[in-house]
Amino acid sequence: MSDEVQKAQTAQKGGDTIFGKIIRKEIPAEILYEDEECLAFNDISAQAPVHFLVIPKKPISGISSAQDQDQSLLGHLMLTAKKVAAEKGLDESGYRLVVNDGKNGAQSVFHMHIHVLGGRQLSWPPG
Ligand code: AMP
Repeated sequence: MSDEVQKAQTAQKGGDTIFGKIIRKEIPAEILYEDEECLAFNDISAQAPVHFLVIPKKPISGISSAQDQDQSLLGHLMLTAKKVAAEKGLDESGYRLVVNDGKNGAQSVFHMHIHVLGGRQLSWPPG
């Protein structure tokens, strides 16, 4: 079992998370993009040559907790992911967006995030 899957067994929904600390600049991160609604930063444990996360500043615990009123925010996260991916030079080669949710989805941080992975051939299906 991978470290991330292990963490997902006991991760708790709700409350502040490490990503809240990154948003508030209480802990450092390699920030790639920021605006009023979202933040993109490199994943601390990269699984591909390019691996960054796009998160809403609003503390949505996971995609399963998103509400209808989050529709435009969720679209903004997707478009931010594709813009930063293009800045990283991934347009030609392609890339993958991943949103893990809950225990079976191997979510370990309960602040919704989109993983953006690229820079190598990714396999399918995922484990
Ligand atoms: P997930 O398993 O989908 O919840 O993904 C959480 C991701 O957050 C993992 O890929 C971690 O490597 C990443 N992560 C955890 N802490 C940090 C941090 N301080 N800075 C950047 N990425 C982090």
